[in-house]
Amino acid sequence: MEKHFSLGWEEWLSLPELGLPAVLAKIDTGAKTSAIHAAAIEPFGSSDNPQIRFLVYPNPDDEKLEITCSAKVVDRRQVTSSNGDVELRYVIETPLHIGDQVWPIQITLTNRETMAYRMLLGRSAIRDHMIVNPNISCAQPRLSFAAYKKLPRRRPVKRPLRIALLSREAENYSSKRLIEEAQSRGHVVEVINTTRCYMKIGGVMPEIHLDGKVLPTYDAVIPRIGASVTGYGLAVLRQFAATGAFCLNSAASIGASRDKLLAHQILARANIRMPVTTFASSPKDTKDLIDLAGKAPVVVKLLSSTQGKGVILAETQKAALSLVDAFRGLEANFLVQQFVKEAAGSDLRCFVIGNKVVGSIKRTGASGDFRSNLHQGGTAVAVRVTKEERETAKRAVRELGLSVAGVDMLQSAEGPKVLEVNSSPGLEGIEKATGKNLAALVIEYLERNVRPLSRFRDVRQINL
Ligand code: ADP
Repeated sequence: MEKHFSLGWEEWLSLPELGLPAVLAKIDTGAKTSAIHAAAIEPFGSSDNPQIRFLVYPNPDDEKLEITCSAKVVDRRQVTSSNGDVELRYVIETPLHIGDQVWPIQITLTNRETMAYRMLLGRSAIRDHMIVNPNISCAQPRLSFAAYKKLPRRRPVKRPLRIALLSREAENYSSKRLIEEAQSRGHVVEVINTTRCYMKIGGVMPEIHLDGKVLPTYDAVIPRIGASVTGYGLAVLRQFAATGAFCLNSAASIGASRDKLLAHQILARANIRMPVTTFASSPKDTKDLIDLAGKAPVVVKLLSSTQGKGVILAETQKAALSLVDAFRGLEANFLVQQFVKEAAGSDLRCFVIGNKVVGSIKRTGASGDFRSNLHQGGTAVAVRVTKEERETAKRAVRELGLSVAGVDMLQSAEGPKVLEVNSSPGLEGIEKATGKNLAALVIEYLERNVRPLSRFRDVRQINL
């Protein structure tokens, strides 16, 4: 026989899986079901895995304390409230903690503003060995709303997240892997075509629309915005950030890393080594531009290049001059760079998450090609990088303000030289070569960084 456990007419409890460390509930044996006062109730997920996202204001005296919760829906039920209204409510199940006891209960979600208590604990949540004494308040230890101030920021959330994947390629390897890993951890991912989104800026709330409907609120956004749509894509990403969603990389940091001139300037300011790089806008300075880059052989790169397509090695001074003139004739934007010969057609790619290098590969170009891009027929093998290489990669990511990125470096005689920091690093080459589950690490990073508190009211704090 279990020892008796007393409950008063009100009790402090916690629902840790919902991220609620302290709630004052009324014990209401007159009601069968338990209920929590929830706002902005939004169902999500598929019909065979329905989820619900909602906001809870645990402290009736502090409207600013707003917690975003989500949980799996276990039922929808007709509930008659004390004033006789019949309401169809979502039902969730979650472990309840009171004093030293923990047991699972079902809770219905209701948005009745008039509820004096944020939660009612009904008969069905009270177990046989529990005795309710309606004459005492709090038979069990009291908690306090101060618990919300101490919420650990880095503890991974356990609740199901509603994640938006901004990509026009739901079917490519990286998208598929991120979706797969997120789903296997209980999250829901919706792929959103960035260029189809349109926005309402300046209304009461920041809104994003798609196909005639306003998009719901997401907990997190994974931007995988194509280089050709960077400008518009980043505006859409800023709008998502304004709704309070956690963005894996901010629009500002993606913008800085995509602008090769700006990225080089930011990295140089931080004393991060890179091949000497020259830029000019006037055609009069062609020769000087090449000389400053250390004379031929030099590498000439179109600023719009990706996958090594616009990267050319000019082996002689004459070739360099005519190449630069040809690009000018086409009004193309380009840079001239010192050729790092000893890299010998190889480069390093370090995959960085947060402040950690989680995987590294060495890529080597097809024979005779100085470019090591996998898209140009290169091959990749997993490598252990040196401490200096690791530190350089982490620093480059940090200086650009990114959280998840791929850093490309050349191994020069003087040490690692950064070529580029990619804010949407592909997963295929590196997962296959290292055998590591990097997609899972990316999702774990999201879980650790999604905010427990909603920040609608502090949109000015969001880093655009
Ligand atoms: P993209 O962004 O188009 O991939 P990169 O700047 O990364 O262009 O260059 C493509 C490849 O060319 C690199 O992976 C590297 O192997 C080679 N490469 C680029 N710049 C240099 C350089 N300055 N010296 C030697 N090799 C280079």
